[in-house]
Parts: sequence; structure tokens; C-alpha cells
Amino acid sequence: MSKEEVGVKRFSKKESSSRIGRIPTPTGYAGLGDINSYLIFPEQPGDELILIDTGICSDEAWQALNDGLAELDLRVEDIDRILLTHGHTDHYGQAQRIHELSNCQLWAHENLWLTNERMRPPPERKEIELYFYALWGVDRALADKAISRRAKIADRYHPMEPDHLLKDDEIVAIPGFDLKTIHTPGHCPDEVVYWQEELKVFFSGDHLLPNITPVCLTQMPRKIGDVRPRALSEYQDSLAKVSPYPARVTYPSHGAPITDHLELIKSYGLSTDRRLLKISRILEAGGPMTPMAVGKELFPRAWEEQIVPVMSEIIGHCDILEDKGHLVETEKKGVIEYHYRSMPAPS
Ligand SMILES: [Zn+2]
Ligand SMILES: [Zn+2]
Repeated sequence: MSKEEVGVKRFSKKESSSRIGRIPTPTGYAGLGDINSYLIFPEQPGDELILIDTGICSDEAWQALNDGLAELDLRVEDIDRILLTHGHTDHYGQAQRIHELSNCQLWAHENLWLTNERMRPPPERKEIELYFYALWGVDRALADKAISRRAKIADRYHPMEPDHLLKDDEIVAIPGFDLKTIHTPGHCPDEVVYWQEELKVFFSGDHLLPNITPVCLTQMPRKIGDVRPRALSEYQDSLAKVSPYPARVTYPSHGAPITDHLELIKSYGLSTDRRLLKISRILEAGGPMTPMAVGKELFPRAWEEQIVPVMSEIIGHCDILEDKGHLVETEKKGVIEYHYRSMPAPS
């Protein structure tokens, strides 16, 4: 199924449910392609039309959303409620613009503010961010570049105040199509997966993606000295949380529907194991090393342009290695160093 073309689609009953539609819109992010918004069609005429995720705030995405709705005989004005899987720009970006035409509600997880704050931090946060970049061995010029790149990304969405904040396990009542909210932090702190029990269907946001392993973005604490959330470890827990569900189809935010989410989770496990091994080898040969030094070796082509995902990958995997006793982390003069202890065995 993963080779299927991902276009505007009204899914058939045979595929899962005729109540589900999909509209992909371009994100403009290199390597990411489109983001899928999903529609939940009303059971009865006059019931709510629901949109899961909005697309990024750009004229191209706006046009694609309008064209996609028109293909399904709908208009932006018909949307009654937006459900977010999480607050990243490609999922949340057009919410305000849709709201202005439709007066729709916005429902999102209660941690949405954390992702918002990360994207548009208050000025005083810059010092904290620079402190952490320095702690990881990232030089000042590269840190400044990352901060200014983020400011550009933040222009791609207009945050909209949510009307309702969802909690883990909360049921979103939709006639004939109730959705259970499963909080799955890891990719970001407000990520949720929606579960439709009768159809055995997931809307997985960026938690489960075919073709790419979701990046678990490192969360800098809000204050120096606060404990840093361990994003990749949280992500592993969130994978364990969705594993037991007997999903027939998983609708991801990027790419084609997934028919075997357990197989996908298994493949994530293998690539995590491989990366843990590679990092351990780098540290064994060259350690002690800063997170940045490990990043340069592991991602020789990407580190300069993609410092945030690169640091996230290194720090996330080193958290796991540290938790399992394979490395020790020390801090000297405000810079972290990883010290090799032992090689992880493949699980
Ligand atoms: Zn995302
Ligand atoms: Zn996304």
C-alpha cells in the first residue's frame, strides 16, 4: 500500500470507511513533501464536518486545501471543527485562516502551548537556548543560525487559540465516529494519535510514519537547571502505548496509509538499535566527545544545515545509552562530554 499515490481521496467502505477523506497539501519542506489532512464526513446531513490537521500557512497549501475540498464537493466554510494531532507548522499552520472563513472550533492536546512556545519563544528564552547549544558543544554561529531559521519557520503559521484542550484517553464525541485521544509524546510534547474503535483505525499524526522515522526533537528545559525531558525515550514509551491496538489501517500525516503498524514499529526498533551501535563505535574510537562532535561524525553531510534534528538524534540516543549504562555523561566548563563504557547488544 505504501507505493499507492497519495492524492485527494474519499476512502471506500472496503478500504476502511466511507466517512474518511484525505487532502494532501504541500509543506514546502525539502524531503518531507505533502502533509495529509483527513476529513471525517458527517453521518447525517447537518452533522459536523471535521478536519484533522490543516496544512502549513502558505498560498500553495491554501490553494491545495480549497481544491481538495472542491473535489469532495465541500468548501472551507463547511468545516465545523479542527482536531490537531500536534502543533507543528504543517499541521496547525492554516487553522486561523480556516477559522476566519468557517468560524470552526479548534481542539488540541493540552500541551499545545509547549510546542507553540518552542516555535515562538519569548525574548528572554534566547539566553537559555544559547546556554544549551553551548552545553552540547554547538558553536555560537551555528546556534544563531538555528534560531534564525526557526523564526522563518514560525512565519509559516498563525497560531489560533484552542477552544478545547484534550487530555490523554479523552473521547472526542463524533456521531457514529467517536475518537479516543492517545497522548503519544516523543516527536513533540503535544503529539496525539486518534483511535476509532469500531473501524480499528488510527490517525497517527507524525507518531507513525511510513518511509521516514519521526525525529524526536530535543526539548530544552524552560529554566536552566530543570530536568530535560528525554524525548526519544518518551517516544519509545509512546510506541509501546499504541502497539497493543488492533489497528487495521493507520492514517499517517505524511505518506500513504499503513496496514501493519506493528511491522513498522519493529523496523523503527531495528534502526534505533543500529544507531545506538554506531554512536557507541564512534565513542569507543574517538571519545570522550561532545554531542556536537558525535553529530559531525554520524551525520557528516547534514550537521551543518540541520543542527536541530542532528542534535536531537544524538542526544536522544545517548540518553538511552546512558540509561542502559553504555556511556557516562560528564559536564566540564559548561560543555557535555560522553564517555564510552560498553557496546550495546542488539535487542
Ligand atoms: Zn511534526
Ligand atoms: Zn508533520
